[in-house]
Amino acid sequence: MTKSPTGLLDGLDPEQRAAAAAPRGPVCVLAGAGTGKTRTITHRIAHLIASGHVAAGQVLAVTFTARAAGEMRTRLRALGVDGAQALTFHAAARRQLRYFWPRVVGDRMWDLLDGKLRLVAQAAQRSRVSSDAEILRDIASEIEWAKASLISPEDYPAQAARLQRDTPMQAAQVAEVYRKYEEVKNAARMLDFDDLLLHTTAALEDNADVAREFRDRYRCFVVDEYQDVTPLQQRLLDAWLGGRDDITVVGDANQTIYSFGGASPRPLLDFTRRFPEATVVRLERDYRSTPQVVELANKVIGAARGRPAGSRLKLVGQRPDGPEPRFAEFDDEPTEAGAVAGRVRQLLDAGVPASEIAILYRVNAQSEVYEQALTDLEIPYLVRGGERFFERREIRQAMVALRTAAGDPPSAELVPAVRAVLARIGLTEQPPSGGAAKERWDALLALVELAEELAASVEGASFGRYVAELEQRAAAQHPPTVEGVTLASLHAAKGLEWDAVFLVGLAEGTMPIQRADGDEAAIEEERRLFYVGVTRAREHLWLSWSLSRHPGGRRHRRRSRFLYGLIPEEHPAARVPRRQPTTRTKPSCRMCGEQLANTLEVKLGRCARCPSDLDEALLTRLKDWRAERARELKVPPFVVFTDATLVAIA
Ligand code: ATP
Ligand code: MG
Repeated sequence: MTKSPTGLLDGLDPEQRAAAAAPRGPVCVLAGAGTGKTRTITHRIAHLIASGHVAAGQVLAVTFTARAAGEMRTRLRALGVDGAQALTFHAAARRQLRYFWPRVVGDRMWDLLDGKLRLVAQAAQRSRVSSDAEILRDIASEIEWAKASLISPEDYPAQAARLQRDTPMQAAQVAEVYRKYEEVKNAARMLDFDDLLLHTTAALEDNADVAREFRDRYRCFVVDEYQDVTPLQQRLLDAWLGGRDDITVVGDANQTIYSFGGASPRPLLDFTRRFPEATVVRLERDYRSTPQVVELANKVIGAARGRPAGSRLKLVGQRPDGPEPRFAEFDDEPTEAGAVAGRVRQLLDAGVPASEIAILYRVNAQSEVYEQALTDLEIPYLVRGGERFFERREIRQAMVALRTAAGDPPSAELVPAVRAVLARIGLTEQPPSGGAAKERWDALLALVELAEELAASVEGASFGRYVAELEQRAAAQHPPTVEGVTLASLHAAKGLEWDAVFLVGLAEGTMPIQRADGDEAAIEEERRLFYVGVTRAREHLWLSWSLSRHPGGRRHRRRSRFLYGLIPEEHPAARVPRRQPTTRTKPSCRMCGEQLANTLEVKLGRCARCPSDLDEALLTRLKDWRAERARELKVPPFVVFTDATLVAIA
């Protein structure tokens, strides 16, 4: 049911309402985790539509992960909005490119590359450089970073030097592999993920009729998690806007967790410079978490260094009190995982739904030991953020089988028919006992559950309709939901929330990750990642680590440096005084947090690109103060320098 425009503002606080009800035009919400940014923009979209400012089909909302885009769609649907697009940048670009490709390029759209390692290996071979697997992976990440940063192979060596990139081999060699990779990929008529954005941007920038058609169609743009925008995504956004200003952005610079991939909070923090007439709203009330979790989150981010000027917000908890966050140290990882699974079992027994519980870790490889521990206790789980659902092997096989079957639709009404097709590619009646096989089974079962959902919501839903729905979801990268405890990397957890969150593996070398050690900017990014983790919890928050990897192993690990000052005095782990690991300082800009490029910048404490308004504000205050003191002392203002001068004068 569609709500009235004013009804859509109910349930928002005054600041959220100001952003949601602002007329068309630029709006920026700068706010901390859990303060209702995503809620505000979904209400804003609904309000703009309900009050007739824009049609649902003219709205394009984008964010960074498929799950977050799915979450936005769910919230929009709950507000009665039908037809507004909420997608990841990549899914939006893919859809647009598919549409414009025949006109711009003239034939069928090229296929999407399934992981780029194979082609990077070919390129490395042609460039006669080492093909060690680890190095190839690092080169692939460098290529991704360069493309996301709009850096061509020709410019790569100079830019890598300027930004002090830790390159996997000589920058000129990386550039050579990058150049060859592009050649090999284009010759094979393939696109990688960044190409989707690059080509869509080019289609809009270089073709007036394409741009006109696009801009007639879409008029209102919304970006969630804007603190993680890359230069490439920003360029695409600019191409979408085409000089118009109907854009709403929301973000939290303290949650920038992709700067290693080229993302920067600068466009968020500079938004008002670009759109001086923008409505700007700051939110500080935290509606997600208990005051206990909020207090911990404030401590975590309060310890951050080099926070940009626009990000020093303190969260104020709004919810009733809850349990204190719990800390626990274990001898080894399987023991830690077993204890976490035991706690999960207790929560489930106490009535907390499995879908309200998450176990979050730094790297996907950590999931295995938790999968085993949950399987041992027969607790259902799903792994997020590893492989993308629709790119999983068994799902690709299932899609082929279902598409083929749709050509000659089975006569059975929908769920048994889907089951029968999936049985042919390995969906057994009973689940396998665990591990990867169980995960594959769960993924296939999710396709059956989608059929059940469709059958329940659409009377007489046909097999063809089901396959069409699947195709649509695949295009939008909107995976069906699998019921169970969530296992996810911290990166994949951004924007989401659960009643109970377990942050596991909080030992040095894992959190922060080994490679960040000694690099202050990288350590700060790890700290922000930790902050993202802490702020996912509504109520229960467990933080744990173990001293060795395997049972009986050497207990040489230390708990994460980010836990210093968080563990209550009475906790056994707090009693052992530990030296905080030091980091080699690579100075960063105090305005935007990026690394400083030269000694002048280091002297100023900010990069050349950041404006000096902070300094100006300070100087103005200092000037006023001097003038005042000079009047008092009846001396010319230039005499008043410092306290010492004043004492001397007095
Ligand atoms: P993140 O930075 O993690 O993305 P966010 O700022 O986008 O967080 P939301 O996810 O929009 O925050 O909101 C956090 C939680 O608080 C949600 O459950 C949301 O429904 C709730 N919430 C937000 N605003 C209000 C409000 N005014 N009254 C009650 N609940 C609210
Ligand atoms: Mg959000």
